[in-house]
Amino acid sequence: MHTDLVAALDIGGTKIAGALVDRQGRILVRAQRPTPAREGGETVMRAVDAVLDELTASPLWQRAGAVGIGSAGPVDATAGTVSPVNVPGWRDYPLVSRVRTAAGGLPVELIGDGVAIAAAEHWQGAARGHDNALCMVVSTGVGGGLVLGGRLHPGPTGNAGHIGHISVDLDGDLCPCGSRGCVERIASGPNIARRALDNGWRPGPDGDTSAAAVAAAARAGDPVAVASFERAARALAAGIAATATLVEIDIAVIGGGVGKAGEVLFAPLRQALTEYATLSFVHRLAVTPAQMGTDAGLVGAAAAALARSADAAVAAV
Ligand SMILES: [Zn+2]
Repeated sequence: MHTDLVAALDIGGTKIAGALVDRQGRILVRAQRPTPAREGGETVMRAVDAVLDELTASPLWQRAGAVGIGSAGPVDATAGTVSPVNVPGWRDYPLVSRVRTAAGGLPVELIGDGVAIAAAEHWQGAARGHDNALCMVVSTGVGGGLVLGGRLHPGPTGNAGHIGHISVDLDGDLCPCGSRGCVERIASGPNIARRALDNGWRPGPDGDTSAAAVAAAARAGDPVAVASFERAARALAAGIAATATLVEIDIAVIGGGVGKAGEVLFAPLRQALTEYATLSFVHRLAVTPAQMGTDAGLVGAAAAALARSADAAVAAV
């Protein structure tokens, strides 16, 4: 059988997306269901099965050689299980074996959603051509993934690059993860908005208190809104500088809703990086907005499945 395609699943707290993807990263067939995130584990799995049923019904399914899954984390790629924070019905849920069964026994590759984004940006987006990159998603949470030595670096459990839970403020606020002063606790969209409100910023007549509304206020010159983005930028810069100093990345790519804020985020971020990334080998570190759109999770999951297929082909020689 000619298996030149892979199946991809992007599993998040709001939607479960699936696709058949070719070796150029083009999406040929897609399916999607809302995530019944507050339901029991088996109900959530039925939504995954419905997506897979649509894919396997396609005549192109015969050309699929592997399945890649990018899932909200934490994931455990070694055990083949997932425990997404925002899907309480899944704790150590055996997603890999369930998907393998539904997919007729195809090999299944599981990575965290941040790692999937990194795979997508490295394959087709802002990190293309960079052998050492950190790709981040800054939105409701802060996630990320690493490319090292030209290859995706998921780590043993598929969670490596989880920059949102690096502490950048030793005595800072408690984070839901149990640590203190995490990047996410300072730089996520809800925390940018919370800090602006705490310091006296007030929304416009529409009552919008999202980070996007704070970004709009910052662009209009509101000093409290500007300060909240500057604080987020410093937290991101400290985390990025630490990563660059540890593993010598040369580019950091920032996506997600907060990443779309533009220069109200990127200008103070680049300034703060000059303070935190000080050693000679991290001086040329670039920071740039993500290029991949809403399909990044699917494309990244496909990239991981293709990489696994390539490794298997090499091992078989
Ligand atoms: Zn944390």
